[in-house]
Amino acid sequence: MTVAQEVEQLYAEVRGCQRCDLARTRTLAVPGEGPLDSEVMFIGEAPGVNEDRQGRPFVGQAGAFLEELLGEAGLTRPEVYICNVLKCRPPGNRDPLPTEIEACSDYLSSQIRLIDPLLIVTLGRYSMSRFFPNQAISRIHGSPREANGRILVPMYHPAAALHQQRLRGVIIDDFRTLPELLERARAGRAAGAEPAEEETPAQQMKLFE
Ligand code: URA
Repeated sequence: MTVAQEVEQLYAEVRGCQRCDLARTRTLAVPGEGPLDSEVMFIGEAPGVNEDRQGRPFVGQAGAFLEELLGEAGLTRPEVYICNVLKCRPPGNRDPLPTEIEACSDYLSSQIRLIDPLLIVTLGRYSMSRFFPNQAISRIHGSPREANGRILVPMYHPAAALHQQRLRGVIIDDFRTLPELLERARAGRAAGAEPAEEETPAQQMKLFE
């Protein structure tokens, strides 16, 4: 199977997913979107009301702000890959449950393997804790880590930063570092750093402890 076929199969699986109770309350599942050869992957938390209606990630107010932030990084939405930790909306936009994160986890692993981005930007706490467990976003936002032939960098969630003047400045500054990180990631890949299979959560703990 080609990568495109595998991605299509994955999206079809996500759209019909019944792995957790969110399947009963969602309108549409939101697999993610973007070119399959994207160098940069953004991982948010979960679909909100607009995303649930349209089946696309970051289409509401947070999405508009994300597009503004991409501009600060010299990037455009059509050239990046955007997805979430959860593919279905938690009712009333409540926080994701650990059981839901676990049920959805394989989908994100497959997306990382198939898209194979050079740079992964996590948006918000839930996305951060997949790669940086037991860390505080206030302390590590904007600090890149190299792992498995790519660079990972945690950032605040655009929805959180949108309405808080202080965080807004912080997230804009963090996004402005992305061009340099992308250059560094490209150089690392060119020098032969091999992308590895994503680690299991237990291995991740060891790596980042
Ligand atoms: N917030 C997210 O984390 N993801 C979306 O898709 C929309 C808002």
